Amino acid sequence: MSDWVSFSEIKNRVTLEQVLRSYQIDWLRRSGLHQYRGRCPIHQGQGTEAFHANLERGVFHCFACGAGGNVLDFVSAMEGCSLREAALRLQEAHGDRSVRTPWVQSGGTEGRKLVTKKREGNPPLGLQLDLDRRHPYLVGRGIDATVADYFGVGYFGGRGLMSHRIAIPIHDPGGRLVAYCGRALDGAEPRYRFAGGFHKSQVLFNYHRARAAGQDQVIVVEGFFDCMRVHQAGFPNVVGLMGARLSAAQKDLIADQFSSVMLMLDGDQTGSAATTEIAAELRPACRVSQVLLPPDMQPDRMSADQIRDALRRPDERRQTIGAN
Ligand SMILES: [Zn+2]
Repeated sequence: MSDWVSFSEIKNRVTLEQVLRSYQIDWLRRSGLHQYRGRCPIHQGQGTEAFHANLERGVFHCFACGAGGNVLDFVSAMEGCSLREAALRLQEAHGDRSVRTPWVQSGGTEGRKLVTKKREGNPPLGLQLDLDRRHPYLVGRGIDATVADYFGVGYFGGRGLMSHRIAIPIHDPGGRLVAYCGRALDGAEPRYRFAGGFHKSQVLFNYHRARAAGQDQVIVVEGFFDCMRVHQAGFPNVVGLMGARLSAAQKDLIADQFSSVMLMLDGDQTGSAATTEIAAELRPACRVSQVLLPPDMQPDRMSADQIRDALRRPDERRQTIGAN
């Protein structure tokens, strides 16, 4: 990152709308020609009218917490960083003037909600969150430092939707960052938080990397941590459904790239029912094997050895997963 930054140039180049989209703030409602209002992403209070943004003037103000200003003030408030750091972040994210991310050009603003897309796509995010990849939660979940770096996951200490959560970057099939999922550290609900405008059904977690692994087979698991643990056990060709269902788009993504599929969903009722269903859906397109885990077992709770053993001998019903 270059240390030189012009505040005025950044303010001219990066719009408040772009920045709001970068933070996946999709709940603001139009309240005037260029005016939007809604819950404040900075102090995150309950008031649904507190935060006002004027997209033409590129300014915002919150009547509850008093935060206000331009794009730099906004990033600074969200990240808890200085204006200069905010400018450097924006310069890095929007460095090349010739590159315009698709969501910049979404004209036709009459009566629409900010950010909400009509089409079922996931526009790229402009900004990467600054994450702590060595957070104790990741260690507790058995994620090695190299794997945290590889997946780019970490704790987000700033403000906004991902505040005080483990933020997990999600990419589109082309490898562009399109969303974060925020995993709660404690019992906070929801356990996994997505931005409202994100279409989970359009992507598979880790698909672009699994594809790059260049293998015929893909391993399909349910969750983010399942995926990371299977990768860590030595299988880079793994994708996560982000749930226990396979959408039509996800099915196409798999069939387009892989001739063979290994399903390793959770051992619970939901997971085993989904395994049967998904296997039937994929069979016309691919060769399908499955690992049937015991009811209390899921990949993110298995050791690397257990994962390797299970994948080596699929298609047999397991009663227990032993360490031996
Ligand atoms: Zn506020």
